Amino acid sequence: MRSHYCGELNASNISQEITLCGWVHRRRDHGGVIFLDVRDREGITQVVFDPDRAESFALADSVRNEFVVKLKGLVRARPEGTVNPNMNTGEIEVLGTELEILNAAQTPPFQLDDHQNVGEDVRLKNRFIDLRRPEVQQKMRFRSKVTSVLRRYLDDNGFLDIETPILTRATPEGARDYLVPSRTQQGSFFALPQSPQLFKQLLMVSGFDRYYQIAKCFRDEDLRADRQPEFTQVDIETSFMSEEQIMVMTENMIGDLFKELMNVDLGAFPRMPYSEAMETYGSDKPDLRIPLTIVTVSDLMKEVDFKVFSGPATDPKGRVAALKVPGGNSLTRKQIDDYTKFVSIYGAKGLAYIKVNDKSNLEEGLQSPIVKFLPIEVRAALLERLEAQDGDLIFFGADSTKVVNEALGALRCKLGEDMDLYTCEWAPLWVVDFPMFEETSDGGITAIHHPFTAPSCSPEALKADPLNALSQAYDMVLNGTELGGGSIRIHQVSMQEVVFELLNISEEEQQEKFGFLLDALKFGAPPHGGLAFGLDRLVMLMTGSSSIRDVIAFPKTQSATCLLTQAPGEVSEKQLKELSIRVRKPVVES
Ligand code: ASP
Repeated sequence: MRSHYCGELNASNISQEITLCGWVHRRRDHGGVIFLDVRDREGITQVVFDPDRAESFALADSVRNEFVVKLKGLVRARPEGTVNPNMNTGEIEVLGTELEILNAAQTPPFQLDDHQNVGEDVRLKNRFIDLRRPEVQQKMRFRSKVTSVLRRYLDDNGFLDIETPILTRATPEGARDYLVPSRTQQGSFFALPQSPQLFKQLLMVSGFDRYYQIAKCFRDEDLRADRQPEFTQVDIETSFMSEEQIMVMTENMIGDLFKELMNVDLGAFPRMPYSEAMETYGSDKPDLRIPLTIVTVSDLMKEVDFKVFSGPATDPKGRVAALKVPGGNSLTRKQIDDYTKFVSIYGAKGLAYIKVNDKSNLEEGLQSPIVKFLPIEVRAALLERLEAQDGDLIFFGADSTKVVNEALGALRCKLGEDMDLYTCEWAPLWVVDFPMFEETSDGGITAIHHPFTAPSCSPEALKADPLNALSQAYDMVLNGTELGGGSIRIHQVSMQEVVFELLNISEEEQQEKFGFLLDALKFGAPPHGGLAFGLDRLVMLMTGSSSIRDVIAFPKTQSATCLLTQAPGEVSEKQLKELSIRVRKPVVES
């Protein structure tokens, strides 16, 4: 129907007869001349209709925003003084000669230019209109470019794109499953995959050697700001490659992506052991753009006459740590109170601090409600360890190691943001040497990654001291966000059984849930490993979006519903009957 996209016209098209199709973005009546801004996915062109052509003029006069039109016209230079340098097509306009209305449109629930004035719920309910906004279109196009560059890289490196089932059994990634009732086997359920983990491992057993898939994954989690119940992973698995080789290959993939689409050179990614990340940054996804570090001072506080410090300092599961904020001396009482409130979200019971006014005067030069509890030698050792200077402020965390890490880790990022401490725009790294397991609150253990991750030690050593065993897992982190993670997998059945045993999965349950994997490991499983990248988060970061919903065409809300289709919805009695399902109405607590 069209000869050109609206947005691609420029001075080189002057004097050409063209045909455009698109939406009326805006209609203006300028004293007898009608201007239509016509929009398509490439942009907007200004079209002028004058009364000389009565028929098209009358039609142009009748159209409203978001009508779908087709028009013919002549491209001409805009009259002097009306060139718009902010528009790609700002040097030209089209003199309309024919106009056809392909479809009318009701007044939209919000005007595209006015989207800020309506709530996100209105935009999501009318997402087909919201998606017309140039900014959202830009993000979708960018996302498409990202997958295209990634596919090209993986194709060029010998990876095969293989689909895995959506209707399947539970794959443990630590979240709740979405279940789908089976009609043919009543009372049985499929689970939607939390990831293609087991299938990609089976593909390695089958000899495909290199696999990838841009895969939908489903996790029924309580949603936080940057989570969606269904999300997309760039899922990768390889055989006969070492941890190091897998990291280099995928680091190059992400490096090429940033170079090609953003002209950003990420450089080589540093590697950081998990223990260092937790100790120094309080997080397994440290934001290395922020220069602040967390320093352990437990040893200095063991003997002080201040239970808040000496308690955690002498508790093997406790930690006393300090976070020095250069120049932080200028923070007001109110700001410090706000930070105290902030860390309480992470379980911290308070936020002790010292302002270093004059470090040469340990008696009077330190301003703090707690300094009186610290002997002079402790004050001196503290300032020395932190290399504190006059004008600095030192925050303290004293609690269980977990609370201290989480509280100071989050505070570090908050200070970085509030005080704009960023030293660079992009800071990627690999976090490596994760522990295999962590303790659960009921005294059991759970896999930090997933139960198919290979430990760095023998089965015997793993059994002897599971909580201190390290795994061959790795996470790629960028600006404090986990972009992806994976591991070398267990490829020997004896090791897999030990891990299941440690996780307290009975032999019966092992057979029932993972019998097929255990069988596959017995029939010639190669050493293999891989990882998965969260595509939504990657695109969110690259486009500087504040929400993951901004880079997903049809996202769900925080309560895991789709406002557009009203999913999830009730189903008919007949459907339920076919599935032998009777719905118990949820109990409403009074
Ligand atoms: N399946 C893992 C996940 O979804 C990634 C991997 O180990 O490859 O987090």
